[in-house]
Amino acid sequence: MSVNIISRSQWGARAWTSAPANVPLSERTEYFIHYDGGTPVSRTGNAIPRAIESEHLGNGWSGIGYHFVVDQAGNIYEGRGWSYQGAHCPNHNRSGIGVQIAIGGDQAPTDAALRSARALYDEACARTGRRLAMRGHRDGFATECPGRRLYAWVQAGMPAPGGGGNDGGSPGGGTYTVQRGDTLSEIGEKLGISWQKIAETNGIRSPYVLQIGQVLRLPGSGSGTYTVRSGDSLSVIGARLGISWQRIASANGIPAPYVIQPGQVLRLP
Ligand SMILES: [Zn+2]
Repeated sequence: MSVNIISRSQWGARAWTSAPANVPLSERTEYFIHYDGGTPVSRTGNAIPRAIESEHLGNGWSGIGYHFVVDQAGNIYEGRGWSYQGAHCPNHNRSGIGVQIAIGGDQAPTDAALRSARALYDEACARTGRRLAMRGHRDGFATECPGRRLYAWVQAGMPAPGGGGNDGGSPGGGTYTVQRGDTLSEIGEKLGISWQKIAETNGIRSPYVLQIGQVLRLPGSGSGTYTVRSGDSLSVIGARLGISWQRIASANGIPAPYVIQPGQVLRLP
């Protein structure tokens, strides 16, 4: 079982201006969480890693500096990946795998984002064969990063909301847990889903009052099915059928890290 990662070519990364140094997995001992900074992130999808890449190229770096970036929908984008030295925290760029969760200011991470960041941690531990130390950027450098919410999550041991993570069977699949200050329109924007559809799916009527901790089911609708074959991933299936794999995931309530099993029957959106 492994996490589904959107490759550099899939999100349209530019070529490295000079190849980053290779780092063997045996040198990795730490896993660092970052955020985007003091300003909330409103971009979604591939625009997120592309914007970070532009900024890092502007710093004179060879390309995006984080090893991976996780967005609010739980998508994981490849940056330096598993084998290259990072550019995310001085003195920790070889020992530390740097992961940015794309939120800023006082934005709250979604359950999907935290599940993916945790699944990626579990994957990193599996690949290195050791329990990597959990760190926030501020543990290695004088910075506010990763912000108070993500730092508290790191200090709590990076729990996967809903008990999910890499087991693929969590009750958190296709759901969102309402956080303080959330409104339906903000949640819709955050997740890239129409808030009216979220309201309809959950039978919420005007004036659309939400409770903190309320678990919302995310909408999906189906026509036709596809049976998963050995070696398939959601992105392969999506490309084969000409359907966005994110929509297939949503239609089937498959949470990040998007684990599917051969023989599983997917409803098509
Ligand atoms: Zn940072």
